[in-house]
Amino acid sequence: MELELVDWLRSRIPPHPALIIPPGDDAAVLAIGAGQQLVATTDMLMDGVDFRLTEHDPRVIGRKCLAVNLSDLAAMAARPLAALVAVALPRSWPLDQVQAFTEGVLELAAQHEVALAGGDTNVWEGPLCVSVTALGEVAQGRAWRRAGAQIGDALVVTGPLGGSILGRHFTFEPRTRAALAIAERYEVHAAMDLSDGLLLDLSRLLRESRCGAELDLHRIPISPSAVELAARDGVSPLDHALSDGEDFELLLSLGQHDAERLIGDPVPGIHSTIIGRVTAGTGMVGRDVQGCLAHLPPRGYVH
Ligand SMILES: [Mg+2]
Repeated sequence: MELELVDWLRSRIPPHPALIIPPGDDAAVLAIGAGQQLVATTDMLMDGVDFRLTEHDPRVIGRKCLAVNLSDLAAMAARPLAALVAVALPRSWPLDQVQAFTEGVLELAAQHEVALAGGDTNVWEGPLCVSVTALGEVAQGRAWRRAGAQIGDALVVTGPLGGSILGRHFTFEPRTRAALAIAERYEVHAAMDLSDGLLLDLSRLLRESRCGAELDLHRIPISPSAVELAARDGVSPLDHALSDGEDFELLLSLGQHDAERLIGDPVPGIHSTIIGRVTAGTGMVGRDVQGCLAHLPPRGYVH
């Protein structure tokens, strides 16, 4: 549903001189003059979908609400500046829980030097619903986009994938600092953050870039939690790494030479891996260790 709705919305939004990158990427980019551009993104998180108020610590819920937005700024190579937090609070939620939630937001904001610039607080009979808007800046024309991957590019991910549901979807580190360090040193052709599963997200990047990809399946970095989850549900660790949501690592498309330099001279805080390459045509194929190729469907978390 989301993809069709976003396509329709994009077709309905008229051009505006300030709107450099319109809705449809990880964040929008707005011209604000003086060689800088404003990067804006918003994400709504809801009880029962993104967290469970009855099960999870309000502090980690608050952290996650900001973290997912910072991840989208990282996906654009934007320096985070500020966030606005709008909440619909359940009437029955005790004040100390609301405060713990807020502390979770503030803690991560401080770690990333993000100003909490405002928001809105409402109380209602419904479940907790949080909408965070994050603002960042980027030098004119330097924002990473999903479009722009070039045939022959290496595809890189910034960390191990899969099994995030076991806890990492709360504790993940938004890759804002790593993104800035990479943007400073390398020419990234296309990028996004992995929120809905590698295959589904990669298919979105490829769609915007109008090309295909070949993945080296034995090189996909598999997180220990993907292995743990596989032991419980019988789905293979690789399948978890390929299609589980909420990894919040970055997916980058850059020239082979730059990609090899990035692997050889690691950026602090991340473990980058080359997982495949961009190809002509459309669609994704996986190459196993024997060299056999198989078509890969765009599996992942569908909203
Ligand atoms: Mg995103």
